[in-house]
Amino acid sequence: MTGRLRGMSDLVDFGIPHPITPYPKLIINAAITGMVPSRKDSPYVPLSPAEIIDDALRCIRAGASIVHLHARDEDGEPTYRKDLYGRMIRGIRSHCPEAILCVSTSGRRHNTFECRSAVLELEGESKPDMASLTLGSLNFPEQASMNTPEMIEALALKMRQCGIIPEIEIFEPGMIHTAKVLIRRGLLTGPFYFNLLLGSLYSTPATLFDLSTMVQKLSPSVHWGAAGIGCFQLVMNTAAILMGGHVRVGLEDNLWYDNERQQLATNERLIQRIVRLSSEFGRVVAKPSEARTMMGFPVNKADC
Ligand code: ZN
Repeated sequence: MTGRLRGMSDLVDFGIPHPITPYPKLIINAAITGMVPSRKDSPYVPLSPAEIIDDALRCIRAGASIVHLHARDEDGEPTYRKDLYGRMIRGIRSHCPEAILCVSTSGRRHNTFECRSAVLELEGESKPDMASLTLGSLNFPEQASMNTPEMIEALALKMRQCGIIPEIEIFEPGMIHTAKVLIRRGLLTGPFYFNLLLGSLYSTPATLFDLSTMVQKLSPSVHWGAAGIGCFQLVMNTAAILMGGHVRVGLEDNLWYDNERQQLATNERLIQRIVRLSSEFGRVVAKPSEARTMMGFPVNKADC
């Protein structure tokens, strides 16, 4: 049999690429609000809990299976208040119980462990499925995002204790090394979902070369998604669809539908475009219950 293939299983073992070896269904993560956009920037950024619930439901019905949430206070400013997170989570779940809900532990405004970890204490119907965990410090145009090793380890430990899965945010290749250190030390235990965020002004450029380099540093067994900041969103999302990764899309990263900045985007339209592209490229979009199964979360109820 030397030099001859015996059957289809041999083809799969040799890693024949997509679409002969199909990619998994596409998980769309809707980052709908973020820390920075204000009502001045766009009328379409959802800010209040009611706006965020309504927009999240539109995104889930359009094809998102994860919703990445940031709370804003009555003045539209970022806040760590867990009562607001709880209200949003319960409001979305009451209509779409299978959606995977991810909260932010960002320290860009409030950088104490007590503030950043407060949302992890929510329980019952208010408990988030996932929480963001940025694996290093970096500069944004507005300010620095400080994530010391002590803070990262404390947040990772609390997530593990609370049964909340980290949304591992990676802005630089070195942060993947940090993830491996934390995995070896038992602070990150999986399931593993890596968000690779490229194109922010002072971190990794959003090129296909940079994205490929980061993906090659990951184990093939992890889930990863790509996000591009600003005009790089569509390029990085499309690259992820073609590479077998998943997608993070939404107004947190990009306010515009077009590169010429003539049309402000809505979260729903951005997701609808990803669904169209994914369909053209032969990737089926995962329903929330399917994303739960793929990521090893319990599946309880029907999709909305
Ligand atoms: Zn965020």
